Amino acid sequence: MCKHILNAQVSVRSPCCTKWFDCVECHQEAESHPLKETLEMVFACKKCKKAFRKDVREFEEADEYCPHCDNHFVLEAKTPKPVLQVEGEDARMDNRMLRDERVKPAKPVQRTIFDPEDDADKLG
Ligand SMILES: [Zn+2]
Ligand SMILES: [Zn+2]
Ligand SMILES: [Zn+2]
Repeated sequence: MCKHILNAQVSVRSPCCTKWFDCVECHQEAESHPLKETLEMVFACKKCKKAFRKDVREFEEADEYCPHCDNHFVLEAKTPKPVLQVEGEDARMDNRMLRDERVKPAKPVQRTIFDPEDDADKLG
């Protein structure tokens, strides 16, 4: 199983050794030779298990979907990240602090010399 892309939707067949890999890095780790570059890649959908070819020169938006089951296989790679318990607790504390903080907008007292009540006092 690929540890580089956790949400891999397709396997790619390497043109050099015709083996199936989830990503280029898997090939690099498993094989001692560099991955041969090719313009026509052979994919296998992990959902319907069917293979299909894509010409990488003519790759457009419709080609991001499996031609057999419409599985959207071009995804933003989800890479493994270390989960730190401390970070999660810090985030919760921050949220609580933000919630308790009350922002009172400072409202300036609007008084002008043209205030009619003030004028009345002066005259009175
Ligand atoms: Zn190879
Ligand atoms: Zn991999
Ligand atoms: Zn499919």
